[in-house]
Amino acid sequence: MTGLVRRKTPSVKIGGLFLGSSHLIAVQSMTNTLTADQEATFRQTRELSDAGADLVRWTVNDEAAAQAVPLIVARLRDQGISTPIIGDFHFNGHVLLNSFPECARALDKYRINPGNVGRGSRHDAHFETFIKLALEYDKPVRIGVNSGSLDPDLLAAMTRRTKRQTPKKIISQAMIKSALDSAAFAEKLGLKKSQIVLSVKMSTVRDMVEVYEQLANQCDYVLHLGLTEAGGGLPGVVASSAALSLLLGQGIGDTIRVSLTPEPGVKRAREVEVARHLLQSLGLRDFMPQVISCPGCGRTSGEEFQRLAADVRAFVSAQMPRWKKNVPGVERLKIAVMGCVVNGPGESCHADIGISLPGRQEKPSAVVYRNGRKFCDIKGEKVNAKFLKILNEFIRTLKSTK
Ligand code: SF4
Repeated sequence: MTGLVRRKTPSVKIGGLFLGSSHLIAVQSMTNTLTADQEATFRQTRELSDAGADLVRWTVNDEAAAQAVPLIVARLRDQGISTPIIGDFHFNGHVLLNSFPECARALDKYRINPGNVGRGSRHDAHFETFIKLALEYDKPVRIGVNSGSLDPDLLAAMTRRTKRQTPKKIISQAMIKSALDSAAFAEKLGLKKSQIVLSVKMSTVRDMVEVYEQLANQCDYVLHLGLTEAGGGLPGVVASSAALSLLLGQGIGDTIRVSLTPEPGVKRAREVEVARHLLQSLGLRDFMPQVISCPGCGRTSGEEFQRLAADVRAFVSAQMPRWKKNVPGVERLKIAVMGCVVNGPGESCHADIGISLPGRQEKPSAVVYRNGRKFCDIKGEKVNAKFLKILNEFIRTLKSTK
């Protein structure tokens, strides 16, 4: 996706991080712990931050959560974790932020859902109080509209006005109107454009892509992308990746969240891993060296080849924290692990370093390439260990040439 032109948006400062078209696309995630459970929320936030989340969101749903927020934030900062923390508010945000100033101060951004701030005249009054609190504490706000919790009064009015439209069309138009009207109201109250982030999340790929495309055409606010209720496991990963790729490929989106229903034994940080892989595979950010490996076929010994590809991936993950500190640009490195002579030499030459294993009927020697040229042959036993040693030495060479 070289040469991708991002949709122009202002810079929004969230703690020490900036969102917007002049900045990297940020990865965010949300804890699923009880926020009042300080230990669990602290631990999961640290896990998400260690996995590379640029922003982490906590639900702030009651007084116990609001009381816990400043204590957990202080503990994170004491331990050197500077990841900006977002408070997610529904129904009672205006009350909680007003009653718990330490909470309001500690958070780096507030999220409000205009569909969940009360009905009728109370809707505007609660929203106004919320925005005025954001102004008082100088915090940016995400106005996050969800198809599952649309402002019922707005939806009813839109349905009356646009009877000829399909229900789906009415919902997407109501979502855009809810986001834009709320943002305009917030600006009227004094919030700057550089303090506003919008999202219009839906649960199916095509609907979500369409609604974001329309919203992007109608405004220049910073956009947070996410497919809500994407599900879990492989279907969730694929659905989110499809939706986000279609939008990011058009330059739409300043921050992303991959929402996955947790599965037993799978860490919450999976969301962050998927989002980072997605951005790197689209060429939008670099997080760690890319291991290019062929799928293998009948021409190669499946076991040997698969083990080498897995060993290289594990070695890269394990070494990355050290490499990152010492070797600038290591995250852009390409390492090829190929199964036979058909594509092996070519791909290995295109990578910074690569190895082409011998296919079943080829000479029993693995050829290593560095910077587009043959570097050496590895013969005999322990091919994996020998290649990892060469790889490590190659990285050390990069360090000394920087
Ligand atoms: S490089 Fe060789 S082993 Fe790998 S998929 Fe292609 S033909 Fe099969």
